[in-house]
Amino acid sequence: MRSLSDADILAVWESAHRYHPVDQAIALLMTSEPGLSRDELASLPLGRRDARLLDLRLATFGDTLNSRGTCPQCNEAVEFEISCSTLRAPDAEVYEHTLDAEGYQLRMRPLTSFDLAAAAGAADVAEAHRLLLQRCVVEARRNDAFVSAGELPEAISAAVAQAALMTDPQAELLIELACPACEHRWQATLDIAHILWKEVDARAQRLLMEVHQLACAYGWREADILGMSPVRRNAYLQRVAA
Ligand SMILES: [Zn+2]
Repeated sequence: MRSLSDADILAVWESAHRYHPVDQAIALLMTSEPGLSRDELASLPLGRRDARLLDLRLATFGDTLNSRGTCPQCNEAVEFEISCSTLRAPDAEVYEHTLDAEGYQLRMRPLTSFDLAAAAGAADVAEAHRLLLQRCVVEARRNDAFVSAGELPEAISAAVAQAALMTDPQAELLIELACPACEHRWQATLDIAHILWKEVDARAQRLLMEVHQLACAYGWREADILGMSPVRRNAYLQRVAA
C-alpha cells in the first residue's frame, strides 16, 4: 500500500472518472497496490476492501476526515469529523455463516465488489437488495432438499440480511452522529469508497488548475509541475497571482 502522489491522482482520475463507483474504488486500490490484480481486489470481502480504502485515505490525505450528513429528524445539515485509523478495525475474520430460520438452513458468505457490480444493474434499490442477499447465500436447504436462493420466502429476508452482515462485520462502517439543532442521535453508515473518490476528484480538479496556471505563466511541462512538492508549487502560484 502506498499513498497516491499528485501524478497518481491525475492518472487514476483520468482513467476512472466515468466508471461506476464500485470500479472507481478498485481503480484507487490498483493504483496504490500495483502488485494485486483487479480480480484479486474485486474478490475481497467488502470489509477488507473498506479497510484498505481507509488505509489509503489516511496515507494520501491524512487521518482526519471531515464529512457531512443530514439529521433524519429535522433535516439539519450535520458536519462531523472522524479518524480513519479509529474507524479501521484490524482485519477481522471473515467466514461463512450458517443460519437456521423458519425451517431453512443457509450457508452465507461475505459480499465482494463483484456482487456490488452485479447489483448495480438492478431496476431499483429493493431489487438490488434482494439480489445481494441471494448472492451471499452459498447454499440453502429445507428438509434436506436444496432450495435456490431466489425461492427463499420474504419472511426470512431480515434474518438473511442480519446473517449476511455477520459474515463480514467490517463491511458496514457505522458512526455515531448527534444533531446540534434538535439533539437527535443516530447511527449512520460511512461510504468510504464514495468519500475517497470525491476527495480524489476534488484534488484532481485543483491540480489541473495549478498545472494550467503554472504552464501558462512559465511554460513548464505538466510532469515537472506535478513533480514539485506542494510547498514549492504553491510558492510559484503565489508569485503568479501577485
Ligand atoms: Zn436534528
